Amino acid sequence: MPSNPELKLMTKLLNLDGMKVKDYQFIEQVGITLYIEHEPRAVPCPQCGKSTRKLHQNHRYVVRDLPLMEQSVYLQVNRRQMKCQNCGKKFSEDLEAIPKKRTYTKRFRQKVVQETLEGTLSKTARKYGLSEREIETMLKDLGK
Ligand SMILES: [Zn+2]
Repeated sequence: MPSNPELKLMTKLLNLDGMKVKDYQFIEQVGITLYIEHEPRAVPCPQCGKSTRKLHQNHRYVVRDLPLMEQSVYLQVNRRQMKCQNCGKKFSEDLEAIPKKRTYTKRFRQKVVQETLEGTLSKTARKYGLSEREIETMLKDLGK
């Protein structure tokens, strides 16, 4: 097991609100997997709004995150299934950083979309002899 100062450093590097690194693994040619947990114990119920601490079950899976020093980064996250103590509804908790039913973080998605658009922008700009700015204006006009 990694030491506490190591995990503290990894948590700082991760820099995702409320997420704590519990363990990590580095596999050459593959990348780094961080095992993370959502810290807040109590979660608001989407049905009645009361917060609950009752865990129904754990749901662990892996999502992509931004690379770190050119290493691919994977997060093994636990999206807890909760049971509301007030109304009995079972629900999976919201994680600020990771969209539901997606296998990547919001910041990873942002980066990929941004790089794709920029790549396409500069390619298209060259093709039609336009500036990227002109194309950005076109995109804005179309509400993209
Ligand atoms: Zn409830």
